[in-house]
Amino acid sequence: MSFGRRSKFFEEFLNPRTANGIGDFLTMKLIPDIPAVYRDDLMEHFGRKPQNPNVQAVILSHAHADHANYISFLHKDIPIYCGQTCKYILDAVDEESQRTIENEVLKYKKRPAFKKNYKDPPIHRKFNTFRTGDKIKIDNIEIEPIHVDHSVPGAYGFIIHTSEGALIYTGDLRSHGTHSKMTQDFIKKAAQEKPVAMITEGTRINTGQTGESEKKVYEKSKSYLKNNKYFSIVDFNFKDIDRFTTFYNISKILGKKLVISFKHACFLERYHKDPKIKSPDSKDENILILKPKRLTGTYCDEDYTDEYIKSRLNYKNIITPEEISKKPKNYVIVLNFWYFNQLIDLKPEGGVYIHSLSEPFNEEMEISNERMVNWIKFFNMKFVQSHCSGHINGADLKNLIETVKAKKLFPIHTEKPKLFSKINLNTHIVKEGQTYKI
Ligand SMILES: [Zn+2]
Repeated sequence: MSFGRRSKFFEEFLNPRTANGIGDFLTMKLIPDIPAVYRDDLMEHFGRKPQNPNVQAVILSHAHADHANYISFLHKDIPIYCGQTCKYILDAVDEESQRTIENEVLKYKKRPAFKKNYKDPPIHRKFNTFRTGDKIKIDNIEIEPIHVDHSVPGAYGFIIHTSEGALIYTGDLRSHGTHSKMTQDFIKKAAQEKPVAMITEGTRINTGQTGESEKKVYEKSKSYLKNNKYFSIVDFNFKDIDRFTTFYNISKILGKKLVISFKHACFLERYHKDPKIKSPDSKDENILILKPKRLTGTYCDEDYTDEYIKSRLNYKNIITPEEISKKPKNYVIVLNFWYFNQLIDLKPEGGVYIHSLSEPFNEEMEISNERMVNWIKFFNMKFVQSHCSGHINGADLKNLIETVKAKKLFPIHTEKPKLFSKINLNTHIVKEGQTYKI
């Protein structure tokens, strides 16, 4: 899913029409027109003849929307391979998202929905999960997933063993995060293979050494929250468990409780179904769950229509906005911009807002950002930017490329592929719709 391409034509109130199935996506080239890979129901709806898939598998590197979401369009018989943790995250996201044609990753109901189709049970996709050390055999090639550090757990790079040599795919990765050791494992293994080619991400190839780290995010955020006697509000991506852990640790050491939303609690609950996970869960003694105010006036549990709230109302660690307002210095509240209307119930009078997300990088984000700043100013809060990127910086990426020494380089997921030619003389600038033989 290319956010950039999608936003070239569509925005908040102008979306691809779900009622037109796959039609708007194919026509506006939001997805490539590849024969025999898409869902039968969508092909039929679009007036094409359904075809059995000629693809043996799709390998998913991690659970970010730009990598995972358009699995929604794929034929049900194409098996999806992803990391075990990645699957837990997909499950968690699936539970709390509204069903649209763009997030039918795990399961879907046949479209068009108005036919008798709607009553049929959903069709579940075939998922095969792996962990580092596993080897996946698909036809005559073998794929070796190796963990990498990224801004979501369960991210992998791949070594693809073929009869002509090894092909490396980096996925999304970085060398400055909490688990940079995992990325180093991947680079080391990739280099040992003396690969014939490498497909690499390159979102930040135009940067140098940035000096950023999760530790710096911790130190900076902590210094602002430490002596703050008023409201402490933080905003970060809920899928970024490392960032969650950073704010959990800061709150704990400062003797404050970390307040999260029901949606966030529900995500953590699913995520913790993975027995290997050690980060704090939603029932941790230092975590509270914010009960949103019902606008009918009184608190009445039947009032909550959202399933994920309803099923969790009996939790012991629930707190209301009124309770927080009485002693705001005791809490660190996780509140995303899209839920800023809850500030109206919290009524902060001063304090700190820590924006732990990337800074705006396009016009649309600038507009949102301006609106966000208006809210912060309205409640007399101080705006603090404290973040480190999920993607590898230019200097570390150059290092990676020079260490792995692949014979050919194919940069993808980048706006500046030409910059790679300076690092590897055998860089191929990929063109859309073209096939490359290695
Ligand atoms: Zn990513």
